[in-house]
Amino acid sequence: MTDLSGKVAVVTGAGRGIGAAVAHRLATDGAAVALLDISEAATKEAVQDIEGAGGRAVGIGCDVSDETAVRDAFDEVADRLGSADILVNNAGILRDNLIFKMSTDDWDQVMAVHLRGTFLCSRTAQRWMVEKKWGRIVNLSSTSALGNRGQVNYSAAKAGIQGFTKALSIELGPFGIRVNAIAPGFIETDMTRATAQRVGVDFDQMKAAAEQTIPLRRAGHPEDIASVASFLVGEDSAYVTGQVIYVAGGPKA
Ligand code: NAP
Repeated sequence: MTDLSGKVAVVTGAGRGIGAAVAHRLATDGAAVALLDISEAATKEAVQDIEGAGGRAVGIGCDVSDETAVRDAFDEVADRLGSADILVNNAGILRDNLIFKMSTDDWDQVMAVHLRGTFLCSRTAQRWMVEKKWGRIVNLSSTSALGNRGQVNYSAAKAGIQGFTKALSIELGPFGIRVNAIAPGFIETDMTRATAQRVGVDFDQMKAAAEQTIPLRRAGHPEDIASVASFLVGEDSAYVTGQVIYVAGGPKA
């Protein structure tokens, strides 16, 4: 069990799915958790779940691609819970399309949320972490970093997050800050449900087809990612930094 008592964790895109599960797990591990999402209202249910289980949580509205909003959100976290010790860059969107149909907006929005958002939140959080000489950053990549049809924008962003993770681990290691990435495969969330809807396939059929190709023969759950995030911010991974851990029921999806 990871012991995060006395630590403050910030999880972005924490209103639902993987982010909500990570926030819940870190709160169970003892951290006070700030759940950031596009609107504060989007975090309400996840905050209530954590409080109902005896944890400490606050919900804050923040678009991670907006520099001012990010600065204000981290200031609010510092006021309400204390400055961030742990950051999980999880907020994400899909704007899938084959390249000949992909708009410039679809490209820019995906880069803005995944890459610019991860950059802005990490740059803001590290100021406090460097002062404390302690910090943990976990970034959400994806098996799509290895390439996926219809996702040149998302694949590029998720591969970029891997490079960002490795470079940042080199910069921040001397300050006691570890930076790692998790690359999930097929995880059952609203994001995968939206993909099924977009391509006009029944979700259960899409999931069953995916499960045939996954060595462990099941789709992942948000808790499968949350437990690895807990490992990466805890002391059992004390000598692990700059790594990408594929959590995909196999070596890749
Ligand atoms: P999800 O269910 O769609 O949740 C993503 C959350 O991020 C939503 O609450 C969303 O808010 C929020 N968000 C979107 N843009 C934001 C922004 N600009 N600022 C703040 N919050 C924002 O997705 P998920 O499946 O849990 O995925 C979480 C992360 O894991 C993402 O980075 C995703 O790329 C990655 N991932 C997921 C899978 C998978 O199979 N599910 C696989 C590999 C990697 P809204 O409700 O407003 O959209």
